[in-house]
Amino acid sequence: MAPSSDGSRRAAYILHETFGYDTFRGQQEEVIGHVIDGGDALVLMPTGGGKSLCYQIPAMARPGTGVVISPLIALMQNQVEALKQLGVHAEFLNSSLDPGTRQVIEAQFRNKELDILYLAPERLRSRQTLDLLASGNISVFAIDEAHCVSQWGHDFRPDYLELQVLHERWPDVPRIALTATATQATREEIATRLNLKDAKQFVSSFDRPNIQYRIIPKSGANKQLLSFLKAEHAGDAGIVYCLSRNSTEKIAAFLRDNGVDALPYHAGLDAATRAEHQRRFLTEDGLVIVATIAFGMGIDKPDVRFVAHMDMPRSVEGYYQETGRAGRDGQPATAWMAYGLADVTQQRVLIDSSEGNAAHRRQLQAHLDGMLALCETVSCRRSELLAYFSEEATACGNCDTCLQPPRTWDGTVAAQKLMSVIVRLENERNGLHFGAGKIINILRGRPDEGTERHRLRDLKPYGVGADLRAVEWQAVVRQLLAQGLLRVQGEYQILALTPASAEVLQGKRQVTMRQDAAGARASRSRGSSGAGSGSGGASGPASGDAPDLSPEDTAVFEQLRTWRKDAAEGKPPYVVFHDATLREIASARPATLDQLSAVNGVGAAKLDKYGEQVLEVLAAAS
Ligand code: ADP
Ligand code: ZN
Repeated sequence: MAPSSDGSRRAAYILHETFGYDTFRGQQEEVIGHVIDGGDALVLMPTGGGKSLCYQIPAMARPGTGVVISPLIALMQNQVEALKQLGVHAEFLNSSLDPGTRQVIEAQFRNKELDILYLAPERLRSRQTLDLLASGNISVFAIDEAHCVSQWGHDFRPDYLELQVLHERWPDVPRIALTATATQATREEIATRLNLKDAKQFVSSFDRPNIQYRIIPKSGANKQLLSFLKAEHAGDAGIVYCLSRNSTEKIAAFLRDNGVDALPYHAGLDAATRAEHQRRFLTEDGLVIVATIAFGMGIDKPDVRFVAHMDMPRSVEGYYQETGRAGRDGQPATAWMAYGLADVTQQRVLIDSSEGNAAHRRQLQAHLDGMLALCETVSCRRSELLAYFSEEATACGNCDTCLQPPRTWDGTVAAQKLMSVIVRLENERNGLHFGAGKIINILRGRPDEGTERHRLRDLKPYGVGADLRAVEWQAVVRQLLAQGLLRVQGEYQILALTPASAEVLQGKRQVTMRQDAAGARASRSRGSSGAGSGSGGASGPASGDAPDLSPEDTAVFEQLRTWRKDAAEGKPPYVVFHDATLREIASARPATLDQLSAVNGVGAAKLDKYGEQVLEVLAAAS
């Protein structure tokens, strides 16, 4: 059904007056129109795509209160805070409330005073909540993070299975389910389990054009990270992911020692410390969190400027979700990863020794293969990434392989040399097996304890690979593993041939390899802002953050940020204005409230509340 013109007029009015935005993004307008007209919707949009407006606007445009089911308390509080700033009457009910506050909110709901009410899913199990809902007037049900209903996903929440009850008790209230998890299987599961088979599906492109994807070969990862941060993201907020708790602590300390404001976050920290670190991340400008993957889901900070991976994620889906936390505000952001041979071998071994049946292991293996293909690709990373989600794309111009196409070389002979070592060890040394380190030593003719003991100097290929450095051989091994021409086995991570190896050994198959740039690759500029010295390594505040502003405008932007910190009164600064809005103000320099209201992100409530103050900051700055 086409959106009624009355509904779409109301939607446009709210977009402009309340949220201060000029235009809808992507499919927002269609989704909102559909729901305002009473239709059910299943919405798949990437992180940062603008899902919240898809239910917030119908909640306000339709008579009654919009009820939003959201799994994370932190997220709820954030959203409600931001909505209140906009003059929307929103509240939440979850376990963090004291009984007095809860009663007040319940009364407001019954009296039909609320625009939006956020609920934790477990609330719906209680009779009391269902009775409360029955006593008010509901405009729409929104089910956020709908993939939590999927039992195969990693975020499964049993309480989500109860959400069926909504449709049974309120068949006439439209429902909208939203998620950023992309695969077809998950989508079908959501539709089935939430009884949304007849809902209209809105599937957006999962491309995040403002994120620049970069994957570099690991060599001294801590230093590589530090120089990336100093050159391109000094003073920026960001997340560094690693796999172990121990390394989050170590890396955070290393960054702090080198002048980067960084804190660790992992499940082993006590709850109070975790909450404090998260609070600081949300409320302070430019803090770096070094975390295990537990951190970030449901954290709605729009101005995360980079996500760095110090270890390779286990799947492309995981990588995509984690990198998606960068640049939700649409401004340039970087997804950076350092990746090495050890990442591959460790994960292979982890899979081999993992619990579960063969099918489960095959699935883990397939996930890893997808991730390796992304790491070793010589074509556009974004195209590779989107292909994983069944989306076609052309070369993007904003990933490392597009910006600096990797050179390739014919690695066939190198591959043959390496394979022949494995074959001869097998045949001439009674099935002796070695890991990559020792095999590389044999190739390069470097004696070690093993080569001496087993008299490997006599082996024909001993020393035939002296022309390549050890790091280059590691890259060869990595790529052979990624291409399925080699495999690792067992606790000692020994290298072994695969059925496909024979073709290479017999010269029937050529092996093209990616040439790793020598040493750590120098960082380069983002977007189109020219040859990249970034901020020249200075740790000035947020200098890497405003590529489009002149030096004078950048100074004004910084003053606005300082003002914003006070104005936020301890709340996350972006609930006052986003960086993007401040940047636009700094370059437009509005002189009147009227001119200020034309800036994207300045709605009526904020104009009222902050308009004069912003003009004062600008007046003082000029
Ligand atoms: P998601 O929940 O899909 O990750 P959000 O709803 O948090 O995304 O939106 C991401 C960011 O984009 C938010 O900061 C939001 O204010 C902004 N945004 C959403 N819709 C628009 C729009 N139509 N115009 C400008 N900014 C928007
Ligand atoms: Zn690209």
